[in-house]
Amino acid sequence: MCWRSRNPDETRALARGLAAVLRDEAEGFVVSLVGPLGAGKTQFVKGLAEGLGLRERYVTSTTFVIANEWPLDGGRLVHADWYRVESEGELEAAGLSDWLEPGTGFVVEWGDRFPDALPADHLRIAIAPCEDDAEARELRAEAGGPRSQAWVAAWRDHAPAEAE
Ligand code: ADP
Ligand code: MG
Repeated sequence: MCWRSRNPDETRALARGLAAVLRDEAEGFVVSLVGPLGAGKTQFVKGLAEGLGLRERYVTSTTFVIANEWPLDGGRLVHADWYRVESEGELEAAGLSDWLEPGTGFVVEWGDRFPDALPADHLRIAIAPCEDDAEARELRAEAGGPRSQAWVAAWRDHAPAEAE
């Protein structure tokens, strides 16, 4: 599944559409955002958090901590950024197994740096700049298993029409 976003607002709107799908996942979810610096990964997390009922301004780059955590109705959202993480051991020490507990929504920027640390059935979203327009991005969703496949299918129905 692939979308084109024309500006940051559209990227956040796409993420709110995904949140509408994931908010009903009592077991939790794992979403990995990949793409170069400045691609819009944090923008996407802001939209996701907002769609889950958090105020998007709370979400910032997690530059100096590995993860931030917020309570949600019946669960919590953990936002991690693995850009500066050097080893899987560092992740384990910071709370990796706890972040992947059932009931936790886990969204990670640069999740591809430690692919073995994530469960196979997670949703990978690759964000790439477009050469023809400085504000445009291509978002590509790839499911790693049956649960994330169902999220992608449902997300398609929640995505704002103008961003397709
Ligand atoms: P990352 O977390 O991937 O390093 P950020 O989300 O922090 O990137 O920053 C993305 C930057 O690109 C922001 O300044 C945002 O305003 C800008 N931007 C321009 N166009 C888009 C778009 N279509 N989607 C997301 N961000 C965009
Ligand atoms: Mg970021």
